[in-house]
Amino acid sequence: HAKAEGKHNFQFYKEEMNTKAQERLLLENKLRHAIESGHFVLHYQPQVDIKTKKLIGLEALIRWIDPIQGVISPLTFVPLAEETGMIGKIGDWVIRKACEENKRLQAFGFPEVKVAVNVSAYQFRHGDHLCRVIQESLAATELSPEYLSVELTESILIENVEDTICQLRRLKDLGITLAVDDFGTGYSSLSYLKRFPIDVLKIDQSFIRDILDDANDEAIVNAIIGMGRSLGLTVLAEGVETVAHRDYLLQQQCYYAQGYLYCKPKPAEELLECWQAGSLLL
Ligand code: C2E
Ligand code: MG
Ligand code: MG
Ligand code: MG
Repeated sequence: HAKAEGKHNFQFYKEEMNTKAQERLLLENKLRHAIESGHFVLHYQPQVDIKTKKLIGLEALIRWIDPIQGVISPLTFVPLAEETGMIGKIGDWVIRKACEENKRLQAFGFPEVKVAVNVSAYQFRHGDHLCRVIQESLAATELSPEYLSVELTESILIENVEDTICQLRRLKDLGITLAVDDFGTGYSSLSYLKRFPIDVLKIDQSFIRDILDDANDEAIVNAIIGMGRSLGLTVLAEGVETVAHRDYLLQQQCYYAQGYLYCKPKPAEELLECWQAGSLLL
């Protein structure tokens, strides 16, 4: 009997594996089609100066708009796009689109702030391609480089260190800003960070969430703020959802934040409308 049950379990397991693999293949084909059809939009989330409540930047966050399923989160498709290399084309599009939309917002009188784009490790593995796409996007849209920021993850900083440093220097030479996203979740120490021409540390939202109840998170956040300051870096907290989060950060002398407390990510037109109505960042 046990044997029969074992066999049954095995078959069940195998079927489940096949379903997973089939779903993945389906999603992969759909994503390829979405790229050809241009089924993506960018939403933008404000980055804020906590003390003055002024807008200091906008983070561009991609959404896949499927004609049937509706909005698909980047958490669902960015990992697959990275594994298959499709993030290359998607990433190029994101950079160009973010530059275009920031330039357009500025033309409508929206505050002149940086737009931050997320960049995957894959995009750093192709020689000068990333740098070229950024340079071309700035030139074609006539966006000044001071209004573009690139968010990279710690994982990028630990692979091909020498080449990455070279690429980051070239990006800095273009005049753009470099930020390390999800900081604290990777493996890089602050002394290690010193080797890279980085401007901004974004404290990962997982440390902010329980900052008032979890002594470990509190210690990590305070260490990042303190060491960031001593290295002369701007420190921005992600996932700031409550007044208590904000007040804690202010008290610890972290002056920049991003999160639902201030504003959810929105399409460019909606941000413009909010701003024109005077209802952005209340
Ligand atoms: P991320 O770059 O760390 O972006 C922050 C994520 O936190 C966004 O999720 C944002 O909507 C969400 N968020 C903002 N404020 C709050 C808050 O107060 N509370 C909570 N719980 N969440 C908040 P989103 O838009 O789903 O993006 C998820 C991740 O997908 C991003 O994390 C980034 O790693 C990736 N991603 C998004 N757009 C792109 C892109 O264009 N290219 C690449 N390579 N990755 C992207
Ligand atoms: Mg980011
Ligand atoms: Mg992040
Ligand atoms: Mg993240």
